[in-house]
Amino acid sequence: LAYCKSLPKAELHAHLNGSVSVRAIEKLIELRKRSEPDYKADDRVLSTAKAQDKIRTLADAFLMFPLIQALTQTSEAVTLATVEVISEFNDDNVKYLELRTTPRENTVTSMSKVDYIEAVLAGIARCSERLPIIVRLLLSIDRRQEVADASETVDLAIEFAKSKNARVVGVELSGDPKFDGRKFLPLFQKAREHGLKIALHLAESCDWMEELSEMLALPPDRIGHGTLLHNDPVHTAVIRENSIPLEICLTSNFICQTTKTFKDSHLDFWFSRKHPVCLCTDDQGVFDTYLSKEFEIASETFNLTKQDLFDTSLCGLRCGFAPKEELYAIERIWALFAKEHA
Ligand code: 5GP
Repeated sequence: LAYCKSLPKAELHAHLNGSVSVRAIEKLIELRKRSEPDYKADDRVLSTAKAQDKIRTLADAFLMFPLIQALTQTSEAVTLATVEVISEFNDDNVKYLELRTTPRENTVTSMSKVDYIEAVLAGIARCSERLPIIVRLLLSIDRRQEVADASETVDLAIEFAKSKNARVVGVELSGDPKFDGRKFLPLFQKAREHGLKIALHLAESCDWMEELSEMLALPPDRIGHGTLLHNDPVHTAVIRENSIPLEICLTSNFICQTTKTFKDSHLDFWFSRKHPVCLCTDDQGVFDTYLSKEFEIASETFNLTKQDLFDTSLCGLRCGFAPKEELYAIERIWALFAKEHA
């Protein structure tokens, strides 16, 4: 684990609200109590072994998210959550982080989607001043959303990508896989026409497998999970021809039982074909993990050498959505590490 910790890492698949740790949840509750002294949080968000105790399926995980989102309903709370999450990735020696989140409005607290995005960007800006970590943002479309709602998010992503230090670099599709994602395809086309990158959660469970051909035809710039894609030679061929990187989250897949054991993970299939994959945490708070641990699990499960781990980590950085010249500049950290550990 010491080597995995010391390795510079890039995290490309981290949902903001799912990444909030128990420690951060306690701070969010404290913040909430300042304006609502009698506020009582749901006991489930405070269980230290949340994932292991409560989550057995992807559907169980989806019950956790609203409990955390209930604590991030004001700009101040969203900024606090962002700062906490980034600080924890920084503590784990993550040098390049792409956070993703679904902009939400809240009529009770009068937080608009724009306020939400600005609150996340404020958290990123605060961390950028004091921590050696580069953070970029993807705006998420939730599969459950109406097209009009998602369309607003894409328009905001386009607008924010042009301004605000260009920290918004892409859009992504997530949310309950039981909902068909095809209705959002024109929106992703539009995002691409405006220079945004696209990541799609695909085939993470058996739900909506019939959408795959059309979704892959986009083609996305990266695939989230893609747990079951390697079972189909046609899909596999499209992914390989387009060299679409997969974001693989071992602990998340195992806890939700979308892969039965670590050994059964699709990571092996793509590794053995030298296809680009990025190890990621998905929801490090909910699944009680961190990126070094994901590297350690991969190393133990697939007998990876230090060089393999280094190459995987560098591959993660190279799959980032920031402009190539920026990623290239960050690569110097990896080069320095390689020199020191030669
Ligand atoms: P947020 O977007 O509120 O910052 O992060 C939580 C949201 O991310 C969830 O409501 C869900 O839409 C999405 N999410 C988190 N983890 C997963 C996952 O493993 N699969 C899918 N499909 N969506 C996820």
